[in-house]
Amino acid sequence: MNNKEIYINNTLTGKKEKFKPITENFVGIYVCGPTVYSEVHLGNCRTFVFFDTLVRYFHFLGYKVRYVRNITDVGHLVNDADEGEDKIAKKAKLEQLEPMEIVQKYTLNFHEVMHSFNTLPPDIEPTATGHINEQISMVEKILKNGFAYEVNGSVYFDVKKFLESGNDYGELSGRNIEDLLAGSRDLDGQQDKKSPQDFALWKNADDSHIMKWDSPWGVGFPGWHLECSAMSSKYLGNKFDIHGGGMDLKFPHHECEIAQAKGANHEHPVNYWVHSNMLTLNGKRMSKSTGNTILPFELFTGSSSHLTKSFSPSVVRFFMLQAHYSGVLDFSNEALIASEKGFRKLMNAFDLIKHHDFVEQHIDEQQNSKVESLCSSCFTFMSDDFNTPKVIASLFELVSIVNHFNSTSWSISNSTFELLQKTFCGFIEEVLGLENEITGNSSLTNQLIELVLELRKDAKANKNYQISDKIRDELVKIGVEIKDGKDTTSYTIKN
Ligand code: AMP
Ligand code: ZN
Repeated sequence: MNNKEIYINNTLTGKKEKFKPITENFVGIYVCGPTVYSEVHLGNCRTFVFFDTLVRYFHFLGYKVRYVRNITDVGHLVNDADEGEDKIAKKAKLEQLEPMEIVQKYTLNFHEVMHSFNTLPPDIEPTATGHINEQISMVEKILKNGFAYEVNGSVYFDVKKFLESGNDYGELSGRNIEDLLAGSRDLDGQQDKKSPQDFALWKNADDSHIMKWDSPWGVGFPGWHLECSAMSSKYLGNKFDIHGGGMDLKFPHHECEIAQAKGANHEHPVNYWVHSNMLTLNGKRMSKSTGNTILPFELFTGSSSHLTKSFSPSVVRFFMLQAHYSGVLDFSNEALIASEKGFRKLMNAFDLIKHHDFVEQHIDEQQNSKVESLCSSCFTFMSDDFNTPKVIASLFELVSIVNHFNSTSWSISNSTFELLQKTFCGFIEEVLGLENEITGNSSLTNQLIELVLELRKDAKANKNYQISDKIRDELVKIGVEIKDGKDTTSYTIKN
């Protein structure tokens, strides 16, 4: 295997497959973006950080990438079963804002968070409300092909018809239609549908509905799954390379996207489906709807009850990438503390390598080939289904060697040093997207606070309470609240 040939675990086939782009050296990627009705939580961030890393790797290998990530600014319905209240409209009433103010507020929040995690902005970030015409055209195509029906101003996808024409519904999620039908009791207030499995392409809107548009079927709004089908085909074509999103979107969202695309264009829209796994908190999925979440700013300020201190965005990004994207990752204060230690060690070596003024001296052949082989393994692991934990393990092996060189002598050749510099620094900065915040403001602040707290601890140990109290009071005055635990002191930076 050439270590730059990428292998991807395609969730459609369940197999690791060699990546063959539709157009040589070009990769088209669509990732489902957030629904902007509340602040993004750390679980959402895990998914977007992973896909950012995937995109970065394609860039690193020299691919031309078109990365499309949408903004869902038309509310899905509250129970996601084509009935109920629009989530954005509901939030607008609650916050006494226009729905578009809600959309603006949380889109800005999303961008800010994405920026703090050093993710690259997508090349196109289409919004659902900006693509109503495209969505209507797609519904018209599906109707014309006989895979949808109109009832009382709404249009539903006809799953039975779709199956009878030899199509599969459940090919991605592995769900079996008989089980799905047996599992659904009745139409649950969805009387317009012929079958509970049918899903809305377009919904008729009553007078109370705020976000609505004219259509050939009357005033209404698009169904949950339609925007991604309409926008991905518009910007990447009816067939494109990679479609990504969190595991929870496999069904019904992505299954419906496949059905819609086949219903409109008679072909499967995507070559490789990639799903990232969930971030959990106390073993339970982080989720907006249950409130089991941590918000990014709570991490950066240390204000969450789950934390004893604050963590910089790069440390959190590093923590996420230490796990493979396909596995569940459980969030904990202890795991972050361990990640922070590792991160600092890695970044110290990064600084050393980046700024080292290398002069070739003697060459130890064994060390030389060890460095070369570890550099090569970074590519091998990343190309093997984006195995970031194994890449990081190789980087740490390089850290040990480099630290040894630094205290003895750099016994490698000029060309090996160049390879090391390009690979080590390239993987850290360009692929993993880690920033050395040790020299940046936020981490410097944290380190200074930690230093002051150390001095306070010494003062207390020497029973110099006047000094220790003064440090505490002065810190509070500048917005740093401290909490004394049994053995340690934690702090929170107030905004
Ligand atoms: P949403 O705004 O709920 O549509 O979610 C945006 C993205 O975040 C989707 O790709 C979800 O799959 C993903 N997501 C939601 N919860 C989590 C979680 N706990 N861990 C990882 N990804 C998540
Ligand atoms: Zn989507």
